[in-house]
Amino acid sequence: QAKAAGRGRMVRFDADLRSGAAQRLRLDADLRRALTHPGELFCVYQPVFRVGDGQLSSVEALVRWRHPVDGVLPPAVFVPIAEAAGTIAQLFAQVLEQSLAEQRGWYNRTGRWIPVAVNLSPRQLDASTADLVLAALAGTGTPPDMLTLELTETGLAEPSTVDAALGPLRRAGVRIAVDDFGTGYSSMARVADHGWDVVKIDRTFVTGIHRDTARSSLADAMVKMAHALGMETVAEGVDNAADLQVLSRLGCEYAQGYLLSHPVDADGILELADVEPRESVELASGSGAGR
Ligand code: C2E
Ligand code: MG
Ligand code: MG
Ligand code: MG
Repeated sequence: QAKAAGRGRMVRFDADLRSGAAQRLRLDADLRRALTHPGELFCVYQPVFRVGDGQLSSVEALVRWRHPVDGVLPPAVFVPIAEAAGTIAQLFAQVLEQSLAEQRGWYNRTGRWIPVAVNLSPRQLDASTADLVLAALAGTGTPPDMLTLELTETGLAEPSTVDAALGPLRRAGVRIAVDDFGTGYSSMARVADHGWDVVKIDRTFVTGIHRDTARSSLADAMVKMAHALGMETVAEGVDNAADLQVLSRLGCEYAQGYLLSHPVDADGILELADVEPRESVELASGSGAGR
């Protein structure tokens, strides 16, 4: 590591620089290069299961970056950089194209469309977004309702701007989910105004609910409000069977989390799609509802 022993201050200085502005600048430059080098950015897919019968219901595409020096980086490291640097729309386009291509591959192999959700940064939403998405769907021949776009409400522009940008997609049948619900400035009133399709309950309100009545009351309220608005609910961060039981009791229809499956590669989804129906929540024991 850095310099030599006995020069601790220098070492600390370097470390601070590397983890701060210099690191961001370097990754920004590297990301611009990666966006033109196919293969460095890739997707993994986290399955979402139906709580009632444990069946695979859809998948969420999650981007990863195989950095030539730093190894595989999680989105928390580079998505904020892409948002700040204005490369986020390019990143989205690549994630969308890759995941629609994999989805087409699953369809070709199984005869079944597996709905795919792609994260869309609110910061990139503009008048060109709809054209880009519609062109990508046309390119793979994907039924538009087999795609969901997940948006967090944090950092969203004016609701009217958002609705204008998403209008052509919604009319085509693309589904919209509010991601990380409960963590941002999102209110149910605003979600109601948008008339979106899915509420993803953030894991803050999910993990540990079986031993936290305050939290389970909040989750209960979120599920009820979503249903009152005609929206479906997906619980994020389900990492133990007891929490899943509570969600089942609350009537939450879908669940995603490490208990059920970590994100996997495209072949992993193909395996899941081919296997027998999974154990239902009702049958789930303390050892979990899945592998
Ligand atoms: P998200 O959309 O809320 O995605 C769920 C995150 O929670 C994923 O982390 C997933 O691996 C993780 N997760 C799933 N199950 C569990 C669990 O049981 N416990 C815990 N502790 N975590 C769980 P990941 O892949 O690191 O993604 C983090 C965030 O990065 C995502 O949150 C999303 O906001 C963003 N992101 C990922 N891919 C993209 C992308 O292509 N574009 C944009 N704009 N953002 C993305
Ligand atoms: Mg998401
Ligand atoms: Mg989420
Ligand atoms: Mg979340």
